[in-house]
Amino acid sequence: MPDDCLFCRMASGEIPVDKVHEDDLVFAIRDINPQAPTHVLVIPVRHVASAAELAATDAELLARLFTVAADIARRDGLDGGWRLVTNVGPDGGQSVAHLHVHLLGGRRMSWPPG
Ligand SMILES: [Zn+2]
Repeated sequence: MPDDCLFCRMASGEIPVDKVHEDDLVFAIRDINPQAPTHVLVIPVRHVASAAELAATDAELLARLFTVAADIARRDGLDGGWRLVTNVGPDGGQSVAHLHVHLLGGRRMSWPPG
């Protein structure tokens, strides 16, 4: 993993952060600049640069990202629905070069996302 990776440093505990979920494969934190009433980042513990780096052998990790997001959505009472987004690369709007999915909910989502 890159030594300067923000999410790796959070995963290891080097940077203390309030985790809303943590298990062997993923952890989740609330976005510091929320774009919706619920805005949670679900993040692999292991360094994966982006969704473009996922392989077929990452099936369990990919499933965990989605099932944890769904659990948090239920916990936050997002009964009307929610959105999962992952950004890849600068043109995709990826701000941290460590894979993360954004769980957004608590308001009606527009398309395309603003
Ligand atoms: Zn990382």
